[in-house]
Amino acid sequence: MKILIINAGSSSLKYQLMDMDTETLIAKGICERIGTGEVGMLKHTPKNGKPEYMLDAVIADHDQAIGLVLGALVSPDHGVVSSLSEVGAVGHRVLNGGPKFETSVLINSDVIKSIEEFIPLGPLHNPANLKGIEACQKAMPGTPQVATFDTSFHQTMPDYAYIYAIPYEYYEKYNIRRYGFHGTSHRYVSEEAVRLLGGRAAGTKIITCHCGNGSSIAALRDGRCVDTSMGLTPLEGVPMGTRSGSIDPAIAEFLANSEGLTRKETYDILNKKSGVLGVSGVSSDFRSIEAAAADAAHPLQRRAQLALDIFYYDVAKYVAAYAGILGGADAIVFTAGLGENSPELREAVIGKLSAAFGVYVDPQKNFTRGTVDITGDASKTKVFVIPTNEELVIARDTKEIVEKL
Ligand code: ADP
Repeated sequence: MKILIINAGSSSLKYQLMDMDTETLIAKGICERIGTGEVGMLKHTPKNGKPEYMLDAVIADHDQAIGLVLGALVSPDHGVVSSLSEVGAVGHRVLNGGPKFETSVLINSDVIKSIEEFIPLGPLHNPANLKGIEACQKAMPGTPQVATFDTSFHQTMPDYAYIYAIPYEYYEKYNIRRYGFHGTSHRYVSEEAVRLLGGRAAGTKIITCHCGNGSSIAALRDGRCVDTSMGLTPLEGVPMGTRSGSIDPAIAEFLANSEGLTRKETYDILNKKSGVLGVSGVSSDFRSIEAAAADAAHPLQRRAQLALDIFYYDVAKYVAAYAGILGGADAIVFTAGLGENSPELREAVIGKLSAAFGVYVDPQKNFTRGTVDITGDASKTKVFVIPTNEELVIARDTKEIVEKL
C-alpha cells in the first residue's frame, strides 16, 4: 500500500509518499510560503530516478498547495504514480490531540470536531493541520485519512506528572495540563532503543532527548512515557532555537511592565526571540552558534558559548531528573537535528552525568553517523544516537488502521 504523509504548517506543507509494503520512500517534498501573498515554491523530489522538480508560484491556500503536490505525484515528467487511486491512504501529523487521543485515529467528522475543539491548546498548528486534512478530503474524497498526534505518546503520563500546581479548577475548566510534544519522535526512537537493548520493552528505563530546533526530553518506563519536558505548549522545558523553555513565570509580567509590552508581544518574545537566539544574539541555528563559539575572533563568541552552555546544562538537568525518578536508565538516546549531528552536545551532556550515574560516551564512536551505540567502555548506561523518523511512524499507524477497515 502507498501512503501519503502530510505535515501541514501554517505556511508550509511537507509531504512524503511511502511504499509501505517495503517501507521505502517514493517521493518527498515541501510547499513554502502558502497564503503569505509572496511567491512561494514547491520542491518535489522523486526517488524513482526522475529529476527533482521546483516550481515558484504564489500559493494562495492549502487547497492549492495540495493540488500542486498531487499534480507533482502524478506528473508524467517527475511523477511517481500513474494515478491517485494508487494512494491507499493519507496520514496527517496533528499537533495537539488534547486529553482525548491516546493513539492515531481514522479521521471522521467527530475527530475533526475534536481537533477544532483543541485549537486553544495548539493555536498555531491545529488550524493548519485541519487545513491540510480538509484539502486532502476535497482532493481525494473516498481515500481514508488518519491523524497521528504529537501528544498521543505522552498520554500515559501519571497525573502527578501532568497536573500543574495551579488551582485544579483550571485543569477541569480548560484542560490546562502537561501534554508534551514530539511524541511520534520519542516513540520511534524509544522503540528502536528497545530493539537495541534486546527487544523487550518490559522492565526497560529509557530517556530520549529530541534536540533540534525545538527540543524535548522524555522519560520512559516499560516503553511508555512517564514524563516529558514540554508542557501545555512547546514553550516549556529546555531552551530551544528561539523558545525560552522553562523560566520563572513572573518574568512575563516583569518584562511586560518594564518594556510596556502587550501579552501577545511578551509571548512572542518568549517564543520567537529567546532560547539560544536570545542568549547568543547570533542565530537560532545551532550550527551557526557552534561556529561562533569556536571562533575566538567572533564578536559574540562569549555569548554563543554561553547559549550552548545553558542548553547543555538544561538538557543534562532533565536527564538527571528523569534518571532519578526512573531509578537509573538502561539507555539515553539522542535524536533530531542536533541530537543526531552534534558530538559536542552528546559529550557535554553525558559528561555532566558521568560522576553521578556512571555513564560515559566513547570519544571515537561519538563521531560516527547514523544509528549508533556510542557507549563508553565503563558505562553502566547505554548511549545511543538514533535518527528519528516521524513519517514512518505516521505511515505505519495509517497502514494498520486502514488495513482493518
Ligand atoms: P526541527 O525542529 O525544525 O525539525 P531539526 O530536528 O531539523 O529541527 O534540527 C534543526 C537544528 O539542528 C538546527 O539548529 C541545526 O543547526 C541543528 N543541526 C543540524 N545539523 C547539525 C550539525 N551538524 N551540528 C550541529 N547542529 C546541527
